[in-house]
Amino acid sequence: MFDKFKDECGVFGIFGHPEAANLTYLGLYALQHRGQESAGIAAADGTRIRVSRAMGYVNDAFDNDTLAGLTGHLAVGHVRYSTAGESRLANAQPIVIDSAHGQLALGHNGNLINAGEVRDALVREGAIFQTSTDSEIVVHLYARAKAENVETAIVDAISQVRGAYSFVLMTKDRIVGVRDPHGFRPLALGRLGDAWVICSETCAMDLIGATYIRDVEPGEMVIANAQGLRSMKPFPPAKHSQCIFEHVYFSRPDSYVFGESVNEVRTEFGRRLALESGVPADVIVPIPDSGVCAAVGYAEQSGIPMRMGLIRNHYVGRTFIQPQQSIRHFGVRVKLNPVKSILSGKRVVLVDDSIVRGTTSRKIVRMVRSAGAREVHMRISCPPTISPCFYGVDTPRRSELIAATHTLEEIRKYLNADSVAYLSLDGLTDSVPAGKTRYCTSCYTGVYPVAFPRDEAAYLQLALKLNPESVSPSAPRPVAASGFEAEDLPGSAGPSLAGAGSSRGGRRSE
Ligand code: SF4
Repeated sequence: MFDKFKDECGVFGIFGHPEAANLTYLGLYALQHRGQESAGIAAADGTRIRVSRAMGYVNDAFDNDTLAGLTGHLAVGHVRYSTAGESRLANAQPIVIDSAHGQLALGHNGNLINAGEVRDALVREGAIFQTSTDSEIVVHLYARAKAENVETAIVDAISQVRGAYSFVLMTKDRIVGVRDPHGFRPLALGRLGDAWVICSETCAMDLIGATYIRDVEPGEMVIANAQGLRSMKPFPPAKHSQCIFEHVYFSRPDSYVFGESVNEVRTEFGRRLALESGVPADVIVPIPDSGVCAAVGYAEQSGIPMRMGLIRNHYVGRTFIQPQQSIRHFGVRVKLNPVKSILSGKRVVLVDDSIVRGTTSRKIVRMVRSAGAREVHMRISCPPTISPCFYGVDTPRRSELIAATHTLEEIRKYLNADSVAYLSLDGLTDSVPAGKTRYCTSCYTGVYPVAFPRDEAAYLQLALKLNPESVSPSAPRPVAASGFEAEDLPGSAGPSLAGAGSSRGGRRSE
């Protein structure tokens, strides 16, 4: 319902605990914000892998009987939002295969840039694909690897893919975590007693009482088995390109991501935003929940009090029933409601983490004005989003990104705000250590760290729903001047609530 980039996926793995599947369930629960379409757990007991996958939220996907059937001391799990491939049960992960190297389970967070090319080559050689995901090519490459053991087969397979990947893999007796050499997506390593934990974000460790030790480094492969933990760096090194949007929006603020507290980084974004574009005002109001940390920083820096002038209804689910047309004009109120006593007669600074199409922001400004605000200033804790992501994030077409096609003044007019300001690119990258050298900022610059071959255009267009114009690496496209199309931008036709209906499609256990 909110106008945001969509989260990607979350992965979790544990080795050496008798309750491995139950702990994986809890880990996925903590990672639910990274994917709500499907969830899956594969567990092993040293002899075989069992797996259960289902559409929907984690707590709908598993029950006690299912978890009881996932026996063993090692497990891997996955929550999915489809960035490549359709939303259907066959595409749920972990993918489990049997091969000459034995069984393998795989969960993937990211997006493989050369997936179309490799998939076509595999199909020409006779491979039969079960899913429409990019991740499946890795298990095909693994099954075909001429390597002498499981680990070299994994390295052989992963060496043939490019792009963004944080994998958790499992054989019948070990778990493996692999992060691509650019380090696009996070992957953290921790301990729970004698057990090893590998997961997307540390909030999953907190829930099960595990201790965060360090990140799996870009280009690193860690293997946990009965002999302990081993690390290797089998892939050619590359320039680090950790996704800065993990700090802006995706990750939970209680997580450490890329070694940094998301809460602290997000708060620093807010402080810098206030320094760069402070405005006389009476109250700072975050757009909940994602604008809260930056609003705290903005209030701290500006000395203006922060108040919760917008209250979020947390009980609006994916299966909201489509009301009749005659009563549909409640806009974003079903999810956000203004607090008149805080807003009335005030000069209000609204703080949000990002604007994608601008449609929701426009409705929120209207709502705050209707609650009596005297002035409404919009402050965004990241730079204008002008380019799509090819590294595991679902973004709208470039033509739908308001900052890609409109000037700042046009955006202000569209939102009907008194002023609009974004955090600068320097402000963003200076908020994290080595922000200018270790992070990807492509959605703000249009400059892509991993190029993709020309013939990938069609594949990406299909998989990521992009315009052909967006599919080639290009020079930066700053906020552009162009005409404004009234109410308006694609996707703005009223609150599309029912369309987000349940994607549940049963459960599959093997
Ligand atoms: S393009 Fe944006 S969302 Fe995608 S990896 Fe880079 S910073 Fe993250």
